[in-house]
Amino acid sequence: MTARNISITDAARLFAENAHRIAVIGHVNPDADAIGSGLAVVHAAHLLGKEAWLSFAYPDETPETLRILPGADTIVRPCDMPDDIDFVVVVDCGSADRMGVLHHLAEKVPYTLIIDHHRSNDGFGTHSVIVPRADATAQLILDFLDALGVALTPSIASCLFAGLLTDTGGFHWGSARAYADAARLVEVGIDADSLTRQLMDTRPFSYLELLGTVLQTATLLPDAGKGRGLVYATVPHDVYKNARPEDVQALIDVVRTTGEAEVALVMREMTSGVWTGSLRSRSLVNVADIARHFGGGGHRQAAGFTVTSSLNDVLHTILRILDNP
Ligand code: MN
Repeated sequence: MTARNISITDAARLFAENAHRIAVIGHVNPDADAIGSGLAVVHAAHLLGKEAWLSFAYPDETPETLRILPGADTIVRPCDMPDDIDFVVVVDCGSADRMGVLHHLAEKVPYTLIIDHHRSNDGFGTHSVIVPRADATAQLILDFLDALGVALTPSIASCLFAGLLTDTGGFHWGSARAYADAARLVEVGIDADSLTRQLMDTRPFSYLELLGTVLQTATLLPDAGKGRGLVYATVPHDVYKNARPEDVQALIDVVRTTGEAEVALVMREMTSGVWTGSLRSRSLVNVADIARHFGGGGHRQAAGFTVTSSLNDVLHTILRILDNP
């Protein structure tokens, strides 16, 4: 099944006319863009007199940092999703397998609408709005809600701000529209300071210990990629299993500050021999291409993959790709 690409206006019409009991699905290991976008759709559906539930396949619990978002307490586990759903909205999810066990829901209903900004989106679902230039899926949801005629509430604006904030690295990068959208969301009356502090700048003390352990593995290969440089660090399974997933995911933001490296990589061992890699580039290298080589995907400057392999083999493959782009 290949999705029909439609405009945001047509997507809003499809939703307004056909959605009554809605499952909103975010990707596995959801981030603030997935949860924020998903909750914004749930809030909007409620305002339109529809029923809607947000879910994601794993982990079992909503990441602790994201529980501050309005409505996060209503997120349901996949097993608690009502079975008489008539419409599915999938947010921020580049491929069907990123829905995990929830992909079966998408197959049961007549409408599965994908709203996403991953260039590598593989076109699953029945209808899709894929806009790779969007800074965040939250930005597309803002357009979607405008097209639906839903007025922004502080709850909706907080959720969308969370996605925009984190997908732009705390507004370290982004289009002019990202800043204009942020202004619009702040004007609704949200507490942007507090959201930013909690989502970007607050970690438990154990994060400092995790950082200490992982940074000891940091390795700089300045000659990699014809002198562009690669920096990488690894999180062995025994360290990974004792840390919060969001703290492990945040490690890349420290590793990528290395000025001598165009590409940064953090490899975490999910289970024995199964590695998930987070890739970042400064500007020259398209890391989504590297991630795709391992069956992953993402954006030009931020991508990820999961692979069953040895760490050495993965590194050798990445070095080979960097040397021969
Ligand atoms: Mn996103």
